[in-house]
Amino acid sequence: MEDDIRWVRTHCGRMDHGGCTLLVGVKDNKIVRVKGDPGGYLSKGYICPKGAASPDRLTHPSRLRHPYKRAGKRGEGKWQEVTWEEALREVAGNLLEIKGKYGAKAVAFGVGMPKGLEHFVLIRLANIFGSPNVIASQDVCHAPREITGIHTCGFYPVADFHYASKLAVLWGSNITSTNEEGEINSLFIEQVKNGMELIIVDPRRIDTVKKARMWLQIRPGTDNALALGFLNVIISEGLYEKGFVEEWTVGFADLAEHVKEFTPEKVSTITWVAPELIRDAARYYAKAKPAVIQWGNPIEHNIFTFDTTRALICLMAITGNLDVPGGNVEAKDPAIVGLGPFVRADLIPEKHRNMISAHHRVIPRLMTVAPAYFRKAVLEEIPYPVKGFYAMCCNPLLTYADSRQTYEALMKLDFLAVADIFMTPTAALADIVLPAATQFEFDDIGHLGIGHGYILARPKVVEPPEDCWPDMKIMNELGKRISPPELWYDDYHMFLEDVVKPAGLTYAEFVEKGYLKGPDRFKSYEKKGFRTTSGKVELALGTAEKFKLAPVPQYNGPPEAEDPDYPLLLTSAKSRFFLHSSYRWLEKLRKLRPHPLVEMNPATAQKFGVVEGDEVIIETKYGRITQIAHLTEGIDPRVLCAAHGWWFPEGRPETQYDWEKSNFNMLTSTVKIGREYGTPNLKGLPCRISRKT
Ligand code: SF4
Repeated sequence: MEDDIRWVRTHCGRMDHGGCTLLVGVKDNKIVRVKGDPGGYLSKGYICPKGAASPDRLTHPSRLRHPYKRAGKRGEGKWQEVTWEEALREVAGNLLEIKGKYGAKAVAFGVGMPKGLEHFVLIRLANIFGSPNVIASQDVCHAPREITGIHTCGFYPVADFHYASKLAVLWGSNITSTNEEGEINSLFIEQVKNGMELIIVDPRRIDTVKKARMWLQIRPGTDNALALGFLNVIISEGLYEKGFVEEWTVGFADLAEHVKEFTPEKVSTITWVAPELIRDAARYYAKAKPAVIQWGNPIEHNIFTFDTTRALICLMAITGNLDVPGGNVEAKDPAIVGLGPFVRADLIPEKHRNMISAHHRVIPRLMTVAPAYFRKAVLEEIPYPVKGFYAMCCNPLLTYADSRQTYEALMKLDFLAVADIFMTPTAALADIVLPAATQFEFDDIGHLGIGHGYILARPKVVEPPEDCWPDMKIMNELGKRISPPELWYDDYHMFLEDVVKPAGLTYAEFVEKGYLKGPDRFKSYEKKGFRTTSGKVELALGTAEKFKLAPVPQYNGPPEAEDPDYPLLLTSAKSRFFLHSSYRWLEKLRKLRPHPLVEMNPATAQKFGVVEGDEVIIETKYGRITQIAHLTEGIDPRVLCAAHGWWFPEGRPETQYDWEKSNFNMLTSTVKIGREYGTPNLKGLPCRISRKT
């Protein structure tokens, strides 16, 4: 009976950055319906296939429901069910033993994409325990954009879709598919309906190309060259905002001199984009006011991410699109707790000096350790040994570049604990596996710390099953056992109260409101200057010498050298049906995308004797996998686009669910990494294919 259904308003989460307001129907502690809420702050009724399938996460028969302790050899797939008390004792005992032998920094704490408040509770746990080492894939997601922004203009310039833009440049951002960066698709679509024009920079003909004025089909891995070409056109044709450049930037003359050589003709030979298209797009971007660049994380997928993000911020600045409504802005947070106090940064003042990555001279202000450096510490004890790993909301065996090396590192650890909702390939290698509650089963706050200036309420809808605990509760209880108990709470709900307290709200009152948004304030620099050493946007970095950074954005060739044995170029894309390596086990989503698909042009397929649906071997000089061929005209004949994050939950735990078979990161390597962020090459890899016989 419809009347028996209790409806709860909450926000979608954990299937991307989240943000769509949902109405969730509940009966007898079971979710029976889910739909988009037309009154939703960002989404206005939108719900995607992942959101519609999201309740199925809770009821999957193979979901982890109890803590387990490894019974056989590591990775053998033999487990013994234990109580929470036994599990926590085991985790605490091992972490403390490692701390006693090697020091707290020999324990690392791993996390995936920020999904909710537990992300910051994990950092708090590491800080209070005394370890500076939180391992995250920020080397390839978010940190380059954010930290380069802080160095260049004093903030992280996010796309502002709350105000009308004349033009959006989607630079490596398939926003209608992936909901990248928490910017909700519906806000963007609303703007397109209202006449916002589009320029797409993407190697694939993504859906938004249909609506776009121009499509720059870029050669994967050459974004820095294309951005330098834009700068060349805008500066040489005098299309920049002279008033802003004179008053609010430093280093314009250096930048102008540097980009002279990057003519559209030269850049065309590098990027494969026609010179006239480069000219037209650069002119259009410079003249449309305001114009916004929605930059996706593919620009962070090669060793030159620092140069690419620098060049794009220079573009935003010289065209007068920085911190103006409808441009790229510094989103102001509402009156909520600061991240530093929340994670108890005060307890670990020497963190930056002691992080594994400090040894590798990464860019200052980077808060997490890149996976490549973490593995080096485990495998080679450089700069010191790491022996223990507590991992939550992540699946490193699939998501870190060079999966084989990740496997070796995980196997070498003295102790590995994994908290998750499902037995993943990484969890299958653990000593202790902890069953986490998932969204709808606990009170949470979304979008904290993502840089978009708002937070969203995600109240609990149903009780978690059996022994499943929210990650926040797990860490609150573990924290009491591995660090001074007085630094933790009787009830983990206090973390939620802490966040909204400065707004004068309880968590329950916050839930009533649904969201909190910071004030719309633009051009703050007019009062206080930019928060850089010079007080201006640093087109040439004033700190370049001190931090051994390039003063102006560079182009130093493609990320990987051409190789006649590997005549194609490999890129990858996220699927609209999954989140990274998650949710292959949800039947509804798996029906929509049963296999990992490698996209190729029909001309490429013909050349290599492949037809639609063939299983093909994809090889780079680092490894080989198989995926299923999908032919499309929307990709250059010289490029392959493989699916990312694939493993097979229907497989066996003792083979870690066939983690090697179709896993994109079997094809990647960390032999070459960008020094600033520890970023490896994930795009533009020379590769070849053959039909599997
Ligand atoms: S777009 Fe993202 S937030 Fe919205 S319903 Fe889909 S998964 Fe959820």
